[in-house]
Amino acid sequence: MKEGKIIILSAPSGTGKSTIISRLIEMEDLALGFSISATSRSPRGAEQHGREYYFLSEEEFKKRAANGEFVEWEEVYPGTCYGTLLSEVKRVTGAGRNLIMDVDVKGALNIKKFFGAKALAIFVMPPSKEELEKRLRARSTDTEESIIKRLAKADFEMSFADRFDTRVVNDDLEVATRRTAEIIRSFAAKD
Ligand code: ADP
Ligand code: 5GP
Repeated sequence: MKEGKIIILSAPSGTGKSTIISRLIEMEDLALGFSISATSRSPRGAEQHGREYYFLSEEEFKKRAANGEFVEWEEVYPGTCYGTLLSEVKRVTGAGRNLIMDVDVKGALNIKKFFGAKALAIFVMPPSKEELEKRLRARSTDTEESIIKRLAKADFEMSFADRFDTRVVNDDLEVATRRTAEIIRSFAAKD
């Protein structure tokens, strides 16, 4: 059996990467399995523990980090940590699937370094900052404070775009999903 590849998606929060990922996962020929990250933030909207994230207390998160259970972790926003558990990577790739992960820009470059040629890092760009703000507000799951934190980080995140293997603009959702699927398909077909 061919070894599973690692597909990393990063974008400023609100760009639409979770929406794109959920559509890609439905495309059976891509054989994707989602890497469920752990986070110290609280669930948002209809999010469920063990589906979108493993929601951990800050204390539990730090304990697992100290135990070496993460491939990588970052304090993405002040006071809020996110990380990829080694057990998740094993669960998905062990089942013969390509692992798709949604991580912040620093996590993406660390994972790329860790997995080398097995990993592809895709940066999803919003069409503009105005549209990004509109999407964050239309999502109506974040508090005003959380929207401000996310927008404040967008320029920093955009400055990493050139360090990714490839970039996709999420203007029209159908077009962006199709383009991302094509990129993954050709990467997964490589030896
Ligand atoms: P992210 O995972 O990058 O934080 P989401 O997938 O939660 O972003 O998308 C943020 C909001 O923008 C959601 O309400 C989603 O439905 C919407 N959205 C996603 N892609 C598009 C698009 N191409 N055009 C308009 N709205 C979009
Ligand atoms: P959100 O709170 O909007 O779900 O995610 C916030 C940010 O955390 C996004 O940039 C997302 O990509 C990032 N993130 C989610 N999981 C991980 C992870 O496991 N590791 C890292 N480094 N970042 C993550």
